[in-house]
Amino acid sequence: MAEQAGGGISNVMREERVFPPSAEFAAQARIKSMEEYEALWTQAAADPPKFWADLARDELHWFEPFSKALVWNEPVAEWFVGGKTNACYNCVDKHVVEGRGDRTAIIWEGEPGDQRTLTYAELQTEVSKCANALKSLGIGVGDVVSIYMPMTPELAIAMLACARIGAVHSVIFAGFSAEAIADRNNDAGAKLVITSDGAWRRGKVLPLKETVDEALAKSPTVEHCLVLKRAGDAPTMQEGRDVWWHDVVDSASADCPAEPLDSETPLFILYTSGSTGKPKGIKHTTAGYNLYAKKTFEWVFDHRDDDIYWCTADCGWITGHSYIVYGPLAAGAQVMMYEGAPNHPAEDRFWDIIERHKVTIFYTAPTAIRAFIKWGDDLVKKHDLTSLRILGTVGEGINPEAWMWYHRMIGGERCPIVDTWWQTETGGIMMSPLPGAIPTKPGSCTKPLPGIIPSIVGTDGQEVDTNQGGMLTIAHPWPGMLRGIWGDMDRYEQVYWSRVKGKYLAGDNARCDEDGYYWIMGRIDDVLNVSGHRLSTIEIESALVSHAAVAEAAAVGRPHELKGDAVAVFVTLCDAEPTEELREELRQHVRKEIGALAVPDDIRFTSSLPKTRSGKIMRRLLRDIAAGREAAGDTTTLEDYTVLAKLREKEA
Ligand code: ATP
Ligand code: MG
Repeated sequence: MAEQAGGGISNVMREERVFPPSAEFAAQARIKSMEEYEALWTQAAADPPKFWADLARDELHWFEPFSKALVWNEPVAEWFVGGKTNACYNCVDKHVVEGRGDRTAIIWEGEPGDQRTLTYAELQTEVSKCANALKSLGIGVGDVVSIYMPMTPELAIAMLACARIGAVHSVIFAGFSAEAIADRNNDAGAKLVITSDGAWRRGKVLPLKETVDEALAKSPTVEHCLVLKRAGDAPTMQEGRDVWWHDVVDSASADCPAEPLDSETPLFILYTSGSTGKPKGIKHTTAGYNLYAKKTFEWVFDHRDDDIYWCTADCGWITGHSYIVYGPLAAGAQVMMYEGAPNHPAEDRFWDIIERHKVTIFYTAPTAIRAFIKWGDDLVKKHDLTSLRILGTVGEGINPEAWMWYHRMIGGERCPIVDTWWQTETGGIMMSPLPGAIPTKPGSCTKPLPGIIPSIVGTDGQEVDTNQGGMLTIAHPWPGMLRGIWGDMDRYEQVYWSRVKGKYLAGDNARCDEDGYYWIMGRIDDVLNVSGHRLSTIEIESALVSHAAVAEAAAVGRPHELKGDAVAVFVTLCDAEPTEELREELRQHVRKEIGALAVPDDIRFTSSLPKTRSGKIMRRLLRDIAAGREAAGDTTTLEDYTVLAKLREKEA
């Protein structure tokens, strides 16, 4: 059969379950009905700059008002031009000034069980001291500060302290190697690295400072290293270069007013997860990003004053930036923060935290949910999770079966699930159910947020029949959008703006069903072309995962003389034995769920799949293995190198 016009993708998955919010939930929500959502979306789409400008005036503090909402010279956007604000002020001082200083800002729990709570007023003091310490180390507006720290309150404090004085933070996940740290230091020209002596992980101490020392030997731009004492290690401190946090921050003055900064002052650099290639250093700026993180947080999580909100991401990823720090704190939320592993001391640590802290909103990733399922229901049943009222997911598509488990086991069939689609580049959530307004369908991120105008196009860049699927683009700039790739505007233009004129190319495929619900189908690069039919990875994977024996699955194309691509799948099992019978059963299962077209040619059982450090399946590496090639391309963000070695051994 010939390839469909415009390169549409065969839509083979049928998912018909719909879950509306309860009447009681909707009645108390910020946005209470589909009609209300649609009215807001339509109003925003009519004039996005005006929509965002009205919000910006109301929601952010302006030292000087802006004169223009948007200046758009594709692909360069400037939002709230001429205004002066400060993201740290909006997240911290604003609440203190407005009389909410005694409100809890951060509820923190360390992996060993130590706890700390900071009010907004206390946060203001800590951040101001840290900001003064940064100044004493020669850091000012525009200087880049790398942060390589465990999930302690000081990590958030360090980020906010940078924002307070106009320094640009670049948070590096504290599991990366010295090589990856040095790459990022050099790419960004970092002047300072903030780290800690160590970090707790599964009861052991990771020697962060040692790793940083190794990186600093190859980071010529770095002048100082600020070290927090966390794990009780005694690292070597290099005279003149390294200083202890307790020496310079604790003794610093708590008087450090937030710097009025131009709206477009760079706020941070953050490298993408590296799922599809070498990580890109994404640049975000102050006002637009801050507004977008705040509003999307309030809409999607339906935030209320009595909520205890917990996002399990690490601040090393965009989810931690937007939905632990900048969004919730700008909204004045009470934010739970946890330092360690989900399976320490036992595999019910998360449920234990929810029960003890009475968490009401829980936001995590599909990779975690798949692990919870594997660890078993008994661990969940031991705990009272009735405080929860909203569940969220982000990072990858969630297979409908995992969605159902989350809904039943964690949400008690009572909590709306917000499946949030977005990217490091988008700064905040782009598509998600609004929990009081939009009925959910397992596996769909449902609808675009107000001000976001998606458009699905074919490989030729023209709009296609959206139900069929194509490349997902965004048709109008939005305040949270990236402003570039750090130091490489050409790559920025080429990656996001060259293939489809006038629209932001997300790099994912999606389709939109007859109810206007969006379904992310996987990465553009990962689409399989089987006998002229373009198949998305997620549908084949979801079919496999819906079999009781399968824990995780990854589908990739293997070059095939006749078909174009043969379907190769990599499967991890729950408890089942990897037998030839099971292989055949899985083939039949896919045939029944999807059809003959998607039946896997190769099924390989494996104990684990290669993932990025943020927990995403790296299909590009599996593609190489399926084709019998050496894995080419960047592997610096691979979580566990032994997984690749094991997969190759099986090959031999
Ligand atoms: P790189 O850009 O370096 O390849 P990455 O795209 O994984 O890495 P991130 O910005 O962390 O880097 O992830 C964004 C991507 O994650 C999206 O483009 C999408 O493919 C996937 N994603 C995020 N949330 C969802 C979701 N709710 N449903 C489906 N996919 C999602
Ligand atoms: Mg990406």
